[in-house]
Amino acid sequence: MKTKLPVAGLIFLIASFSPLSVDAQKLATGGRRTVSVTIDDLPVNSLRNDVTTQTTITRKLLQAIKSHRVPAIGFVNENKLLTNGERDERRVTLLRMWIDANLELGNHTFSHPDLHRTPLETFREDVISGEEVTSKLLNAKGRTLRYFRHPFLHSGNDSETKRKFEEFLLERGYRVAPVTIDNSEWIFARAYENALVRGDKQMVKRVAEAYVPYMEKKFAYFEQQSLALFGYEMKQVLLLHANALNADYFDKLAKMIKKRGYEFISLDEALTDKAYTFPDTYAGPAGITWIHRWAITAGKSDDFFRGEPLTPAFVMKEAGVTAE
Ligand SMILES: [Zn+2]
Repeated sequence: MKTKLPVAGLIFLIASFSPLSVDAQKLATGGRRTVSVTIDDLPVNSLRNDVTTQTTITRKLLQAIKSHRVPAIGFVNENKLLTNGERDERRVTLLRMWIDANLELGNHTFSHPDLHRTPLETFREDVISGEEVTSKLLNAKGRTLRYFRHPFLHSGNDSETKRKFEEFLLERGYRVAPVTIDNSEWIFARAYENALVRGDKQMVKRVAEAYVPYMEKKFAYFEQQSLALFGYEMKQVLLLHANALNADYFDKLAKMIKKRGYEFISLDEALTDKAYTFPDTYAGPAGITWIHRWAITAGKSDDFFRGEPLTPAFVMKEAGVTAE
């Protein structure tokens, strides 16, 4: 986030993204806030790998998504469809539940490797392995597999790897699914589940009660960041995971989001915002929001990135995580 990358032609690009007046902001956003909900690590990211628990989590999460009419997209790791190394139809059924709820699925690689620690060729093969079941399920509904989400939001530690991998995705017909409202919901989820498994009801409650207020601070921060960079509140893309925390609290989260004046939109619709055409030349170790990638590309100073809400220390401790 501290790197400055001057880019040729940037003056022209910044000029075309100059801050807008309040009226123009309303025009640009249609006078409303919009967000696309994207959910990673399908079918389920949980310490509890038994099919019964995973089915309960999926059912509750989808119930909450449906009740708020959220056109969410789920990103699949097909290695989570295996039991003892064999494809388990009961786990494939979990993906079918998403399809039957009329939700879209995307590819999140087969085994969630880290592009920054994996040879590019091996990583590409993992993307291809991750297509098999998901594309069949989508094709049966007359849909195709169109979106790719980078594990850890790692898109390449160096420009060469980033460029080559982007070319590969394009050739295979993928569009990258960016994230603008990045957050550490995964740390809350780990803390929540650790406390659940340990039977510490008080800690379960404490983590859960801190979750939605924390997410609201993240929304406020990225609304401001969008305004500061583009002069209007863009169509945002939120990152969440398919986990027990969201199975239990997506309803409360969705209510908070609606209360802020948001309407839920599909990823397709979010990406019609011209902000997503802004160049992203960031190559480096961090898995960060696209808003900050664009800000780095535009040469913003360190001041621009200040004020991002942090995860409370007790949540970090319960999750056993030392760095966000
Ligand atoms: Zn993931």
